[in-house]
Amino acid sequence: MIKTVPQHPPMTQFPVKGNNLTVGGIELTRLAARVGKTPFYAYDRQLITDRITELRRQMPDELKIHYAMKANPMPAVVQHMAALVDGFDLASAGEMKVALDTPMSAENISMAGPGKRPQELMQAVAAGVTINIESFHELETIASVSGQSGIQAQVAVRINPAFELKASGMKMGGGPKQFGIDEELLPEALTRINELNLDFKGFHIYSGSQNLKAEAIIEAQQKSIDLAIKLSDYHPAPIKKLNIGGGYGIPYFPGETPLDTRQVGDALAKAMAKFKAVNPQAEVIIELGRYLVGEAGIYVCQVLDKKISRGQIFLMVNGGLHHHLAASGNFGQVIRKNYPVAIGNKMNKPEKETVNIVGPLCTPLDILADKMDLPAAEIGDLVVIYQSGAYGYTASPHQFLSQPEAEQVLV
Ligand SMILES: *Cc1c(COP(=O)(O)O)cnc(C)c1O
Repeated sequence: MIKTVPQHPPMTQFPVKGNNLTVGGIELTRLAARVGKTPFYAYDRQLITDRITELRRQMPDELKIHYAMKANPMPAVVQHMAALVDGFDLASAGEMKVALDTPMSAENISMAGPGKRPQELMQAVAAGVTINIESFHELETIASVSGQSGIQAQVAVRINPAFELKASGMKMGGGPKQFGIDEELLPEALTRINELNLDFKGFHIYSGSQNLKAEAIIEAQQKSIDLAIKLSDYHPAPIKKLNIGGGYGIPYFPGETPLDTRQVGDALAKAMAKFKAVNPQAEVIIELGRYLVGEAGIYVCQVLDKKISRGQIFLMVNGGLHHHLAASGNFGQVIRKNYPVAIGNKMNKPEKETVNIVGPLCTPLDILADKMDLPAAEIGDLVVIYQSGAYGYTASPHQFLSQPEAEQVLV
C-alpha cells in the first residue's frame, strides 16, 4: 500500500450532475467542447456574485469593498466585478487600462505597488485615480508629472506600519519593506505632500495576504484604524479614504478552515465607529482579491498518458505549472501541498486509486497532485483543480517549455 497524504474534505461550490462537475450550470465535458480545447480556466460568475453578496451581509454597512485586480485581471471578470464592488485596486498601468474600460469611476480606483514608472504615474494622474505613494522619490515624481501636465494628482500614502499581520501567508507590512513609507516618516511625508499641493485623500495600510485567522485580521484592522487616528494631527487635509487592506484567505489544504468573516465584520463595525467619531467624512475601505474570486474558479486539464512506475500510478496531463504555478506548489509555498483535485467527468465513480498527477514539463517540479485518492482516471479524462480563481493564469510562467497557452472563460 502507498501511504497517501492527508486528503481534502469534499468541495461543494460547483454542483455535480451525473458524473460531471458543472460550472455555471454547464456540464464539464460540454464546457470543454465549447471552449474547444484543454487546458482552460473556468470562472463561475454566479459564485463571484454570491460571494460578494454574502460578504456584504457580514461586513458593516458603511464599509467599502474594493477588488484587488491582480488576483484575477481577466477583463470579463473585472467587468463583472465593476457592478458588484465599490472600487478597484490596481498595481500597474496595464491593470489600469482594464479597469478604465469598465464603468467603474476613476474616483474609486487606486494604484499601489513599489517601483511605479514615471510614465505610469503620468497615466494615473491623467486618469484621476488615487496613487498610493510608496516612497519619497515617488512623491517627488508625482509632483513633477502633475506640474508638467497641470493636473492635480490624487494621492494617498501607503504606510508601512510598525506592526505585522500575524499568521499571514505573505507579510507585506511591518519591519523593513519595499512597500509603503515607514510609519515613523509619515509626518515628514505629509508635510511634503502639503507643500507640493497634491490632493491628499488618505492612507493605505496593507499588512499581508492569505490569512485564515479572524483574530489576526481583527488585530491588524484595529491597529490600522488606531494608526490612522493617531496620524490625524499631521494631515494636510481631513482624510477622505482609509484603506485598511484585507488579506482574507481561502482554504486550500487539508486541515485549513474558512475564515470566520462574521467575527471579522463584528469587530470591524466597532473599530469603524471609533474611527468615524474622529473622521466622520471618511470612507473606510477593504481591498480583497483572492477572497472574492479564488473559490469561484477551476483549472481543467486532460489526461494524456497513464503509467505505473515502481508501484505508483502516474497520470500525465496536458497542463501544469506553466499555467498554474501555485497548484504545483512553487508560488511561495514552503512545503508542497496538494490543492483540492477532482476527476471532473467521474465525480460519482466510487472506485478510487492513489495517483500522482504530473504536467508535461521536463522538471520534477511540475506536479499537480501527489499521492491523492481519486476516482480511477483514464486517458482523455478531465482533471480539475479547485480554488483556482485567483493567482492562477496570470501568476504562471506560460512561456516555460513553449507549451500551448491555456484558455480562460467566465461562465
Ligand atoms: C496583492 C494585494 C492585494 C490582494 O491580496 P489578496 O490576498 O488576493 O486579497 C490587496 N492589496 C494589495 C496592496 C496587494 O498587493
